[in-house]
Amino acid sequence: MEIKSVGVIGAGQMGNGIAHVMAVAGYDVMLNDINQDALNAALALIDKNMERQVSRNLLDADAKAEAFARIKTTMDLPDLGPQDLIIEAATEREDVKNKIFETLLPHLAPQTILTTNTSSISITRLASRTDRPERFMGFHFMNPVPVMKLVELIRGIATDEETYQACLKIVNNLDKTAASASDFPAFIVNRILVPMINEACYTLYEGVGNVASIDSAMKLGANHPMGPLELADFIGLDTCLAIMHVLHDGLADTKYRPCPLLTKYVEAGWLGRKTQRGFYDYRGETPVPTR
Ligand code: NAD
Repeated sequence: MEIKSVGVIGAGQMGNGIAHVMAVAGYDVMLNDINQDALNAALALIDKNMERQVSRNLLDADAKAEAFARIKTTMDLPDLGPQDLIIEAATEREDVKNKIFETLLPHLAPQTILTTNTSSISITRLASRTDRPERFMGFHFMNPVPVMKLVELIRGIATDEETYQACLKIVNNLDKTAASASDFPAFIVNRILVPMINEACYTLYEGVGNVASIDSAMKLGANHPMGPLELADFIGLDTCLAIMHVLHDGLADTKYRPCPLLTKYVEAGWLGRKTQRGFYDYRGETPVPTR
């Protein structure tokens, strides 16, 4: 089955990036959100981000106009019924995602592929609540979507080969690279990255180093472009903690114990860049380490 159109659910950080790259690759996009302001903001941001690509000669002006015109928006989920592929990128809550699928399913053609951009929820469990576990899988983009080259493709226990191959073809058409992952907590990237960040928190908590020495050690000693604590602030400390809980609960191994200092920062509302304070304080001209 050839996929020509895609329905994207959720027009937040990820949904707008997904709509952007899909439209540039030639797919017709129907973008849905429960909030009209989110849809308006997403269109404005897509326009701005596409313009930036034009100014950097990554996209020509005519192609930009055509891509932008391929994106339609709606607040009515049933409008996504005729799409060939659905990518759900709404809020990371299982009840929200289940409700979306329940509302949407009666309007979908039987062959429509259903996917989710979830970072942590079990693909198999989400699939089991739908009428098409064989045609359900994880389609996990990285943030920011137009820049990051990787997409993790996650097969649930029932996902069939045809569905996987159809999604793989789309990733290739987006000029991105797929990493195939099994459906276990946090998949590949977050399974490796977030425990490393958690370990950096322990290194700080135990006084082995301070914020500046830990970050510069990993930048200069391991050639990482960002230090782990700087990166944690970028991702959001609440998100890092939530992923550690998913690993700890899902794998029942004490090696995934969330660092108490990470929990303390989240309790304080020091969530990183988005709240202007995390391992660094961003309220002044230059970020200042908090420890
Ligand atoms: P976000 O908060 O920026 O956007 C979520 C959007 O979903 C909001 O605009 C909200 O109005 C909308 N929404 C909520 N309920 C809805 C419903 N019932 N129907 C339609 N829209 C609804 O969140 P985000 O960062 O874009 O994350 C979206 C998904 O992508 C999550 O599953 C998250 O785990 C995943 N993800 C996030 C990142 C990241 O770095 N932020 C990376 C990879 C995957």
